Order: sequence, then C-alpha cells, then structure tokens
Amino acid sequence: MSGAFKISVAKMDFGVAEELTRKVHDVVIVGGGPAGMSAAIYAARYGLDAVIITEEVGGQVGKAGWVENYLGYTRIMGPGLAKKFEEHVKSYNVPIVIDSVVDVKRYGELFKVYTLNGDEYTGRTVIISVGTKRRKLNVPGEDAYSGRGVSYCAACDAPLFKGKVVAVVGGGDSAAQSALLLAEYANKVYIIHRRNQLRAQKHYQDLLLRNPKIEIIWNTVVKELRGDRLLRKVVLQRVDTNEVFEMPVDGLFVEIGAEPPVDLFKRIGLDLSQDGYIRVNHLMETSIPGIYAAGDCVDLAPRDFRQIVVAAAQGALAAYSAYNYIIKKFGLIRGKDAYEARPKSELYES
Ligand code: NAP
Repeated sequence: MSGAFKISVAKMDFGVAEELTRKVHDVVIVGGGPAGMSAAIYAARYGLDAVIITEEVGGQVGKAGWVENYLGYTRIMGPGLAKKFEEHVKSYNVPIVIDSVVDVKRYGELFKVYTLNGDEYTGRTVIISVGTKRRKLNVPGEDAYSGRGVSYCAACDAPLFKGKVVAVVGGGDSAAQSALLLAEYANKVYIIHRRNQLRAQKHYQDLLLRNPKIEIIWNTVVKELRGDRLLRKVVLQRVDTNEVFEMPVDGLFVEIGAEPPVDLFKRIGLDLSQDGYIRVNHLMETSIPGIYAAGDCVDLAPRDFRQIVVAAAQGALAAYSAYNYIIKKFGLIRGKDAYEARPKSELYES
C-alpha cells in the first residue's frame, strides 16, 4: 500500500496514481463525507484494501457551522470535524483521491470506477457515499454574484461579513445553523423563509428566536439579486400578498436543501426512489450485488433525519456488507493470495 494519502489529481504523484489505478482494490469508496470516511475506517479494520475517491473531504460537514450533536464533541465547527475524520482515515493508511466519479461499470467479477480526470479504479466492491448537491435558487443574479456576496458555505465565509448585514434563505437545520454562526460575526442576520413555520429542529428555533441579531422574514421568496461588482440588495416577494420589495444586504447565504446526483446513479443503473435517492436495504445493499450505498444519497427512512451520526453508521454497515460479500465471492481476506493468484482472465469473466 502506498504511503501518500490525500492525493489531489492536479498534483498527484504519477507513481502513486498509477499504483492506485493499476491494483484491484477490495473496495472503492465514492465520496468522502462521514459515510465514506466511516466506511473506509471499517473496511481497513476488516483488512480490506480501500481507496476513497471524492470531490471534497468531509462533504457537507466541511461546510457546516457549529456541530453540537455528534457524539464525543460537545461543540466543534464542521470543517474541524471533517479534519478529524480525515486524520482518522489517514491513520488507517487509506488513500483519499480528490477527483469526481462519472461512472461505475461491472467488469466481470469486478467494477471499474471512472473519474472526470480520465482515471479508472478497479474494485471488488463499490460503496457509493456521494451525499447530495446543494440546491441553487435559480434566480437572476445568483451566478453573477456567487463569490461576490452569494455564498453556499457559512462556515467558510461567515468571518468575511463581520459587522455587515446578511440574509440566509431557507427554513431547515442548515439555514438555522448558518444564521446562528453568521450572527457571531454580522451585525444583522435575516432569515428569508417561504412559509410561516420553520422546518428546523426546536433546539435551533429556540436559539434563533432568542438571538437579538436574527430576524425572520416569513412567507417570502427571493426573486432577484442586484448590485454592482458586489451584491448590494435582494429583491423579495411576499407569497401571501405578492408585494415585491428590495432589501439591502452585503451577503446572501443559500441554504435551501440538497438533491442527489441522479444522473450518475442512473448511469450506474442503480434502482432509485422516485426522487432519485438510491434504494438500499438494511445492510446498505443496492440493487446491484457488490455495490453498496450509505449516507445522504440513500432512500432509507426517516429521510428527514439526515445526521452525521446516521451517515457514519450507514458507512460502517456498508463496509461490513462489502466485507461479507468479498469473503463469500472471493475467499478469505487473510488468504488474499488465493484469489490474487487467480489469472486476470478468470476475474474479469462475466
Ligand atoms: P431541508 O431540511 O430540506 O430544508 C430546506 C429548507 O429550504 C426548507 O425550509 C425549505 O422550505 C426551503 N426551500 C427548499 N427549496 C426552496 C426554494 N427553492 N426556495 C426557498 N426555500 C426553499 O434542508 P437542510 O436544512 O439543508 O437539511 C438537510 C438535512 O440535513 C435535514 O435532514 C436536516 O435535519 C439535516 N441537518 C441537520 C443538522 C443538525 O442536526 N445539526 C444541521 C444541518 C442539516 P420548506 O420548509 O417550505 O420546505
């Protein structure tokens, strides 16, 4: 196993990259959020050769504000927790490749995992833990002011808005978490919500209502973003009266939930729920034997309980199932030679 661990494709050492793409991994983990990271730790402890391919380390956790409900940490910032996950994975020598997976195909008894960078990784099993993609508002000005006042990551950008006026769009846990973090820096934080009731946990609702810097603008949607070089104001519309009005802001944080990357899942041929989440059973088995899924991308009740601890548990289970599949299909892990000695042609036969 190689000694280099977080590997960005842009500066990937050729020898390391070649080794990772040449070998047959026991498990290729697609996605490096809490589900994928936890799967990697469990896989390594089962003696499996694992590799993580991910666009970013930590997934949504890396963009979260204060996390106060993950066991063992009374209060830790999302990026700090993501760093802890990474350190934990590194301690098991599991390589993390920064790349984007575009397809997974069966290849005889194995799977080929294809990336945007043009690399192919081979695995006896695959764990899909890609999470979900943040929703965008899709209103005029959103793209133009992205990075010029519009942000999708309060944990990354909150300190830039010290003493300023900001708004957060959304009414769920993410919006609440972001608003509370922003209130530590900004002078004023508006929450713009399309209904008259928040979706966020009661704990967050209480904190929001108690915070003098935070004001909720109910029954209102964002219609347009305006400014010069930087965002200066949002155009809002009340959904009950249709009244349109402008509000000056220095920053706008979009926290309106997320959706699974359905196109990728369809390309792989996974059985999906109507809204594009991967169907799994209680062992995280998908409709394709040898492919497992875990975390925010799976269709497993309760769907409105997306928690780091749940994703981590599902990742552990996925690794457990991958291990059992490998034992059954390829033989004992400790007797690796038994199947590594088999001719390639035999392994690649359909
Ligand atoms: P979410 O729960 O789906 O909430 C999205 C919010 O955005 C909802 O209030 C929704 O309004 C609103 N919204 C959706 N589309 C919109 C649009 N086009 N325009 C305006 N508003 C829109 O998403 P989330 O807050 O990102 O949370 C995702 C999951 O992660 C949840 O399971 C949540 O519990 C979990 N999470 C947990 C924590 C924690 O435990 N600390 C922190 C963050 C996230 P409606 O309410 O009207 O639908």
